[in-house]
Amino acid sequence: MKAVEKNHFAHAQLIHGHEGNGNLAIALALATYLNCQNRQATDSCGACSSCVKMSKVAHPDVKYIYPTAGGKKVLSANFIEQWRDFVQTKPFGNLSDWLEAIDVKQGNIPVEEARLLIQDLSMKSYEGGYKIVLIWQAESLHTATANALLKVLEEPPEQTIFLLVTNSTEQLLTTIISRTQRVWIPDFTDEDIENYLVDKLTVTTERAKQATFLSQNNLRNALHILESDTPENHQLFAEWMRKCYSAQLDELVLMSNEFDKKTKEQHKNFFEYGISIFRELFLYAKGNEDLVRLVGDELIFVQRFSKALNFRNLEKITTLLGDASYHIARNGRAKIIFLDLSLTLAGLLKK
Ligand SMILES: [Zn+2]
Repeated sequence: MKAVEKNHFAHAQLIHGHEGNGNLAIALALATYLNCQNRQATDSCGACSSCVKMSKVAHPDVKYIYPTAGGKKVLSANFIEQWRDFVQTKPFGNLSDWLEAIDVKQGNIPVEEARLLIQDLSMKSYEGGYKIVLIWQAESLHTATANALLKVLEEPPEQTIFLLVTNSTEQLLTTIISRTQRVWIPDFTDEDIENYLVDKLTVTTERAKQATFLSQNNLRNALHILESDTPENHQLFAEWMRKCYSAQLDELVLMSNEFDKKTKEQHKNFFEYGISIFRELFLYAKGNEDLVRLVGDELIFVQRFSKALNFRNLEKITTLLGDASYHIARNGRAKIIFLDLSLTLAGLLKK
């Protein structure tokens, strides 16, 4: 924001950072600030006509480019309605969330998009402010598209700002990177995520803490976890561990049948949940109790379970849970994966 005030703002910015952080939100805030008619010291006013249009994702001088199915007839402009909804409801979403929203399997930004953009940029801005081009998921730029944009990125028309948003600079052409000023956006902290969840959703602090702990500083994950019924995970996991530990084979077969009925997303979530619990068990066992982030039932579980565990096998168990999640993702049969893992764990959990 200070750079804008001082007119030191580079005309092409590469806003990059991990998935589930504030990349897109920050790019939108910057775009809003640039054209705000009543800029405050550190933020836009939020009330002028430009700010209002920005909040509705309907500013005529801001062009949004994002992955689509590609080809001449499927350009960003064709999906502006879905984009508006996405920006307003899922600003921390990732590429697969977006592709799901537009019902497309694989996305890219086709060269036709660059051609139209260059045409568009040759015209004056409607409102006399900056013309802004926000390219979301810039790593999806087709090589031909990226090449077609090089010249305009190097020497854009006056009062034109490019905001490229990406999770992965490694996938961008170095010729693109060299024409931009890089702005690294750090991950959210646990505290950021927890506060966001408590403020925006009607969840208890305990639920917010659980989701935060599982999210690995990715706000998109945290929201996703709360949407896909994880409170069940703890109960189910504790029951599973008890049955594995006491090697109740009949019971484990029944559990695998029940497990089979859940969705693939729930299967993956469950094994990921198991990995996080074992990570905490490891910390606890190593005497790093102050680092354990669990609360309530989960903490009690870890405290008790740690007394019964054979710690030499912890690493192995974590690897096996990771493998199970991987096989689920590759469309392995949940029932077989679950039962197979149960039998192996029954052996490994014994002292
Ligand atoms: Zn304003």
